[in-house]
Amino acid sequence: MSGRSLLDKVWDAHTVRELPTGQTQLFIGLHLIHEVTSPQAFAMLREMGVPVRFPGRTFATVDHIIPTDRQSRPLADTLAEEMMVALERNCADAGIELFTPDSGKQGIVHVIGPELGLTQPGMTIACGDSHTSTHGAFGAVAFGIGTSQVRDVLATQCLTMARPKVRRIDVTGKLAAGVYAKAVILAIIRRLGVKGGVGYAYEYAGPVLEAMTVEERLTVCNMSIEGGARCGYVNPDDVAIDYLRGRPFAPAGEAFDTAVGWWRSVASDADASYDDRVELDGAALAPSVTWGINPGQSVAVDEELPRLADAPADERPGLAEAFDFMELKAGEPIAGTPIDVAFIGSCTNGRISDLREAARVARTGKVKPGVRTFVVPGSQAVARQAKEEGLDEVFRSAGFDWREAGCSMCLAMNPDKLVGREICASSSNRNFKGRQGSPTGRTLLMSPAMVAAAALKGEVCDVREIL
Ligand code: SF4
Repeated sequence: MSGRSLLDKVWDAHTVRELPTGQTQLFIGLHLIHEVTSPQAFAMLREMGVPVRFPGRTFATVDHIIPTDRQSRPLADTLAEEMMVALERNCADAGIELFTPDSGKQGIVHVIGPELGLTQPGMTIACGDSHTSTHGAFGAVAFGIGTSQVRDVLATQCLTMARPKVRRIDVTGKLAAGVYAKAVILAIIRRLGVKGGVGYAYEYAGPVLEAMTVEERLTVCNMSIEGGARCGYVNPDDVAIDYLRGRPFAPAGEAFDTAVGWWRSVASDADASYDDRVELDGAALAPSVTWGINPGQSVAVDEELPRLADAPADERPGLAEAFDFMELKAGEPIAGTPIDVAFIGSCTNGRISDLREAARVARTGKVKPGVRTFVVPGSQAVARQAKEEGLDEVFRSAGFDWREAGCSMCLAMNPDKLVGREICASSSNRNFKGRQGSPTGRTLLMSPAMVAAAALKGEVCDVREIL
């Protein structure tokens, strides 16, 4: 009999019961909530007269609507202030811990979970947010859920889910200098497609993932959902365990050692069987840039944009739509595309290591006049660390706009928005039409270092030439 994957071990350990539908009633170890998808869930609970079942397993933060210029209360945007007040009231009523800006622990939900040690290997994690897959970097099984499921988790701490298949993705070799985790996940999505992961959990493995820091793995797992996967994870190892040691919500003392035993035990067995296996040569990767309107439409920075004639017939309409919207031309290089805005931040790439790499680039020059810039730490803790290291000053001296923590221009639910047809070099995760606040705004996804390089040059360029 072959061994079991992490997905199967964690799934089985959290199964309350199998339902006649073939789905599983799954216990959720950690529930993370924020101001956008939780108010309706709390309202439904109130209507039903049902209390929150395990308030100690739910943690809240404010991230999407929070302004990044001035966060003092009341917030200037009255709707944002109302959402903040609603979250405060709901959390206080239910006894849920909420991380507001006053707490010093506020930040993007997928940044604070790991940095506070809430996210741990072997957990089932749910959050009313697509990019909950991020937490899989520790070997957790983490799902984004909808508002009615947020209600279900609040009421029962359980979800009804279908067990996904597992695709193992081995990334071999060693990444070249200037090639980051963002290039790895963009290459995976380009290869497998934005719907390639439907019905699957992605298990990321191989020498490139093993050599990555937890923060790099968070970037990879974050975008699993962009490849259609239900979740994505990396098997827990010393890297993940060392990261968790001493974190505020991680077990301490003997409890930590006990937890480590469980954490190691959930890693996929060496002889685990998978529903599918894929291999990617990490050594062959160059910095990636998206050129289109979904994260699967990317090229290496030194590559030309695809030609319609080379694409399968069924893909040509989608490519044509993307070229039309982006006003880019098939067969031309992506390097040299002028940008108007540079955004460094988000739950994909708003961590301290991201800011350090971008700052390395920022030290080499000045932002090209006319380029609007946003450097937005993923959390208050990231901002504090960056200030301690003087990174805020590095960015400011180079002409970047240093901001407070939040989602900012990733989704533009706050005042940080593209205007008109602006093109944004962005370290976020979605390049959909209208994603960054202007219905006609255009987004080019890339690593934070690549964004910084584009800001200095005023156009897409190869960060390897600067570093
Ligand atoms: S940074 Fe973007 S993707 Fe991440 S939680 Fe915020 S809005 Fe969602």
